[in-house]
Amino acid sequence: MIVFCTSCWAENEDTAVRCSHCGAGLTGGLDQKSYVEKLLRALRSHPILETRVRAAWILGKRREVQAAPVLMEVLATTGDSELKEATIVSLGQIGDRRVIPLLLVLARTGPLAVRLKAVEILGEMGDASIIEQLSTLAREDPNEIVRREAERSLKKIQDDPDEQKET
Ligand SMILES: [Zn+2]
Repeated sequence: MIVFCTSCWAENEDTAVRCSHCGAGLTGGLDQKSYVEKLLRALRSHPILETRVRAAWILGKRREVQAAPVLMEVLATTGDSELKEATIVSLGQIGDRRVIPLLLVLARTGPLAVRLKAVEILGEMGDASIIEQLSTLAREDPNEIVRREAERSLKKIQDDPDEQKET
């Protein structure tokens, strides 16, 4: 079993007394509400980027629906590609469709890794309303890698309309 340190969100064995990463005591016993609140606080404003990325990842794994607005806010405001990618993946896992317009913007412009992740998750969200926009991307984007990824996402949506991918 794995437990997460609520100071730095590193993974630890559940037998550990102190976090192997930051040394904080692993007392456990946090109720679910304060656990998620701590994750959200770390995601929003932890001084160490890696910790913010980890918080985003854990919130996605837990499919914390209430985290979606904060994830979207971070996605829209952070300048960091790695954090953008992590929030995109989490939002995909949570499956909140309000993020689709933002993902369509990110798919068209910005760092390649973020564009590809946005296109991939748009495919996984399987929303038939964006088929036209994805087709345009698959046809007309100047970047061949983006065109291919858009093609893949398009296939995913057409094979499996209105169905969210379970992981
Ligand atoms: Zn720690």
